[in-house]
Amino acid sequence: MTIYTGPVFAMAREQFGAIADHLDIPLDERDRLLYPKRAITVSIPIHMDDGSTTVFEGYRVQHHLTFGATKGGVRFAPNVDIGEVGALSVWMSWKCALAGLPYGGAKGGVACDPQKLSIRELEAVSRRYMQEMIPFVGPHTDVMAPDMGTNEQVMAWFMDTYSMHIGHAVPEIVTGKPVALGGTVGRREATGRGVVYLVERALNQLKINPVGTTAIVQGYGNVGSVTAINLARRTGSRIVGISDHTAAYYDPRGLDIDSIERHAGANRGVLAGWSEQLAIDPGELIEQPCDILVPAAVERVINGENAGRIKCRILAEGANGPTTPEADRILDRRRDEVLVIPDILCNSGGVIVSYFEWVQDLQQLFWAETEVNDKLYRLLEMAFTQVTKRAAAENISNRTAAMAIGVEKVREGKRLRGLFP
Ligand code: NAD
Repeated sequence: MTIYTGPVFAMAREQFGAIADHLDIPLDERDRLLYPKRAITVSIPIHMDDGSTTVFEGYRVQHHLTFGATKGGVRFAPNVDIGEVGALSVWMSWKCALAGLPYGGAKGGVACDPQKLSIRELEAVSRRYMQEMIPFVGPHTDVMAPDMGTNEQVMAWFMDTYSMHIGHAVPEIVTGKPVALGGTVGRREATGRGVVYLVERALNQLKINPVGTTAIVQGYGNVGSVTAINLARRTGSRIVGISDHTAAYYDPRGLDIDSIERHAGANRGVLAGWSEQLAIDPGELIEQPCDILVPAAVERVINGENAGRIKCRILAEGANGPTTPEADRILDRRRDEVLVIPDILCNSGGVIVSYFEWVQDLQQLFWAETEVNDKLYRLLEMAFTQVTKRAAAENISNRTAAMAIGVEKVREGKRLRGLFP
């Protein structure tokens, strides 16, 4: 029996099982590595604008505290549950370990639809969630960050609620906050920038000239928009497909990304209404031919059904958990056709620059954007090299290699410390 139910945690468990087999981890050590140390569920009652009261459910899962604080985003989404949050906390642990950050993984969530809340209601949900979490978090215990449905403003409300309780400003309690409150330059763009850096490394490995490559990006939020814009402007790729939860567009000649950006900017970030002629079924979009496919939205979009049909040269996983284990087995057989940059490597730019933000807050000494980006690319380069070398040496997929490195580091830390953390 476990509280971590549902398809997303089942996926994290299956992936971990495969890695544990690969690393020959004894059976009695596995549960301790996989199951989170703590999970907290809270009720969040809010006065709605119409005078009624609604109670939302909020979660925080802290996977392990072996190396220091836990670290991870908070997701505001209608269907989020403890199983999904638990899985995301597990992935965060492998991701932080792979990048060499002194963190365990965590994740949080509130089951609500932020698009349907007014700004005042969103603020009330954010503040009450942090208020309920105060006994369980702290700059050296658990540091939150944005994820789907949350942003810099939500982080500012979290930071303010925590700081009012402590009695002075504590910017290091969250990352991804506005620069004016101790956020770091380059954090908002970090995940997308990291995705693009790694795509360029993969193109280089495949000896493909980046200029004129074609790309499809699913999701136009923080990760998807920055990735698409940087692929177009920096890499010289043609964005042939783009989608969000409201619309999907495809044109093999290339989409006008500047016009899309202006449209999203004027329409609360959504793509609906940009074009009628170029609309395509969202399911079909990710099966269109392209050099670079970037899922940057939700989990399990590449599955047993479509993994055999995707026609990209590089699958760059901007989202967490976009590929199911069944799809993974299919992609493993297609290793010569599709190079996978697995999520825990591909989107790690976000947590890496979050770590830089936390370090700057603790030191009260702030860096220039060039320094942030320089250090980001250095860590990504190290992780990319380790993963691809290990994959080649052991004839395993990039995902297996990345997870093996992450799991090994956590395992070693736990072995050295003992049963507590
Ligand atoms: P966001 O809320 O800013 O954007 C999410 C986007 O996905 C929106 O454009 C939304 O419309 C779209 N979307 C939702 N459901 C969709 C669907 N079914 N099909 C197509 N598009 C859909 O979120 P984000 O921060 O960009 O996060 C996206 C993914 O990246 C998540 O998996 C998140 O965990 C992961 N991630 C984010 C960061 C970060 O720094 N923000 C870091 C690492 C990983």
